[in-house]
Amino acid sequence: LVNGSILIIFASIMISYVLANRTIKPMKESIEKERAFLQDASHELRTPIAVIQSRLEGLLRNPEEKIIDRYEYIEPALRESRRISRMVSNLMILTRADAGATLDKMEKFDLRKLGDDIAIIYGEFAAIQNKKFVYTPKEEVIIEGNYENLHQLLIILMDNALKYTKDEGIIELSITSSKDKGIIRVLDNGVGIKEENLDKVFTRFFREDKARNRNNGGTGLGLSIAKWITDCHGGTIRAERRKEGGTMIEVQLPKENKLKIGKNSSEKES
Ligand code: ADP
Repeated sequence: LVNGSILIIFASIMISYVLANRTIKPMKESIEKERAFLQDASHELRTPIAVIQSRLEGLLRNPEEKIIDRYEYIEPALRESRRISRMVSNLMILTRADAGATLDKMEKFDLRKLGDDIAIIYGEFAAIQNKKFVYTPKEEVIIEGNYENLHQLLIILMDNALKYTKDEGIIELSITSSKDKGIIRVLDNGVGIKEENLDKVFTRFFREDKARNRNNGGTGLGLSIAKWITDCHGGTIRAERRKEGGTMIEVQLPKENKLKIGKNSSEKES
């Protein structure tokens, strides 16, 4: 009887331990993740705020000078305030993602339509920057996805391709398909990503070269948002170094949305 009781007590302790570990450990990890995110965000916001403060103080030191002659004070303050604004919008998207937000609605559409819309915007942007944009749509690629969010994803990839490519760079958008996937590729012949960073670029605030990135207005959050949008579609995203130099980002999206996210509740239940 005594042995039996000891066994039951021991088993209960073991079960409680396992259960506690299963529930408390993920909770602890999620709190730690949130804390690290908040810390990184505050750290990233500190620099642009410091720049704005110092430039405005500089402006105040010589108030009698004409505003037109104070460009070196005004321009950085304006640039950094725009960066803060971009960062805050990106942080809001990621905070909603962490809270379990999914995409609003999924619909069937041809990825070439998305490509055409992007081509109108970026054909012009590229030309202004003395760069070449190539887009040669081929076959129809019908997928089930959220148009607005995939538009946002492509803007992130195209902005990066332009940002990390010098004058006379070539940026290419390709839309193809396999049996059950739509495939989007954005290629450039720019500075490229180091082999050891190909996975890291999708983590929040990761940037290969912080100084360069700061000057081009980057926030280090674009590809994390691109990854979240891809995940919401049940797809995959990856970066590759091109043999000829530059980067390729490839997004694969299932043609049928098996996750059934973003449907209205009655559809979800059925
Ligand atoms: P950022 O706002 O800094 O561009 P992202 O999350 O979009 O933030 O990208 C993270 C990092 O990945 C960038 O800082 C850059 O180092 C690298 N990166 C992204 N796209 C490219 C590209 N097309 N070519 C070279 N490096 C890139």
